Amino acid sequence: MPESLTKSEPIDVAMSADSNTELSQLSIVPPPPSTLRLDLDHTAIFLDVDGTLLDIAPTPLEVRVPQHLSLALERLSARMGGAIAFITGRPVAEIDRIFHPLRMPAAGGHGAEIRLTPKDNIHRSRIATLDDELREDLTRIGELDSGIIVEDKGFSLAIHYRQAPQFGREVMEHIVHICRSERCESLEVLPGKLVVEIKPSGYDKGTGLRELMSNPPFAGRRPIFIGDDVTDNAAFAVLPDFNGIGISVGGPVPGASYNFDHPQDVRLWLERLSRQDDRERR
Ligand SMILES: [Mg+2]
Repeated sequence: MPESLTKSEPIDVAMSADSNTELSQLSIVPPPPSTLRLDLDHTAIFLDVDGTLLDIAPTPLEVRVPQHLSLALERLSARMGGAIAFITGRPVAEIDRIFHPLRMPAAGGHGAEIRLTPKDNIHRSRIATLDDELREDLTRIGELDSGIIVEDKGFSLAIHYRQAPQFGREVMEHIVHICRSERCESLEVLPGKLVVEIKPSGYDKGTGLRELMSNPPFAGRRPIFIGDDVTDNAAFAVLPDFNGIGISVGGPVPGASYNFDHPQDVRLWLERLSRQDDRERR
């Protein structure tokens, strides 16, 4: 553990979520301290993409990668011997398109795809993907309203209702109805922030992180994982096995010691981290 990393204890406060709910215990989790200095030779960084590194866009294809982010990732990757990777629900090929020309190691499709270095081939899980009939039925939920976006990620399907939040309950009811039959037995339904994701069980961001950590250049390093939504919980959950550090975005989650309020704060932190050693040489 880097010597200068001092962890603040979460502060428990009681507050009313709204007038119809009982008082609930919420934790305020601080951002990583500005004095945090990481030993980049012995640290691995794993980053969720949407809502963590990149601002959520009206539709998944509209996300934007700020140029300074690409430069910071490139600099960090060079400094860390390549031990920085994306852990995302999107397919790796799509992540490559979004970040082009930057390529990074990645666990894509919620761990269904692994690429250890930018030059490697993508290794795909043999676990079955969603069957076509089920995919069609779920896709039809998008016909409820033009604000409902169905994102086919290949290994999984995400139904976004960010632009039609009033349909949230109806979207969930349709999913439950469609998934009543046996064909959903080996699937997981994960409600996130204005999105519901349907994915095969058997792999998740936790298995993805674990697989990356079993191989060079990640093996033996201390992982930091940053994520913002329900599908990231699986990655936070495996961190104790590697003495890792979890950082949430947008609010505290189990397994995260620190929290950033916005993706912009994550980008700024990475930018500073990528210049950490330059500052010390001065
Ligand atoms: Mg996310």
